[in-house]
Amino acid sequence: MRQRGFLSFITLVILALLLQACGRGFEAQEACNFLLNNNSQRVSWKARLPVRLHIHQSVPTQYYRPIELAVEHWNQSHPEQKLFEIVGYGTTGSSRPTRDGHNVIYWLTTWDQPHSREQGRTTLHWAGSQILEADIAINAEPGRHSFYAGDEEYLMGPHQVDFKSLMIHELGHALGMAHMQSPGSVMSPYLASGVSRRELGEADVHSLLCEY
Ligand SMILES: [Zn+2]
Repeated sequence: MRQRGFLSFITLVILALLLQACGRGFEAQEACNFLLNNNSQRVSWKARLPVRLHIHQSVPTQYYRPIELAVEHWNQSHPEQKLFEIVGYGTTGSSRPTRDGHNVIYWLTTWDQPHSREQGRTTLHWAGSQILEADIAINAEPGRHSFYAGDEEYLMGPHQVDFKSLMIHELGHALGMAHMQSPGSVMSPYLASGVSRRELGEADVHSLLCEY
């Protein structure tokens, strides 16, 4: 009798351990507003930080500063990790986003028609749940968007798109973050003209620290 009691205790312990293991497995699949792969795992850079960024030669030099400021803002939003580092200015090579092992910011004067209203687009390449490359393209089709490159928000025209805000959004995608409807999030899908959205919201920071 005593032995049987002991056995059932062992069974309970094993069950409890199994349940815990299941619990942990489920937690690991929490989206935290990140892209998920087919196995419902978050797609990210893991420990391969900082993301090394190149600015393509197509990007006009007046936009270097807002890119730098957007990078700085992300870096300051994490207490320990440096998230991004700009390693190249005026980089040559392919003039459009292409899978070449480099993370490049492009300035495109032609854009695919069904999406011509897009302000920018980030393309990720990953294997398993590890991001290997992120390319950011800005829609600079003539007559489409007028970008504001300055730092003083009050000088932005009502029909201009704040470039720093746009870069902060696309850099979020480059980290693996998805769109978020939460008010105040820099990952909201739409950025209206004449509006700046330069500060990470609470939900963005929560999402960032959930994965990194
Ligand atoms: Zn987006």
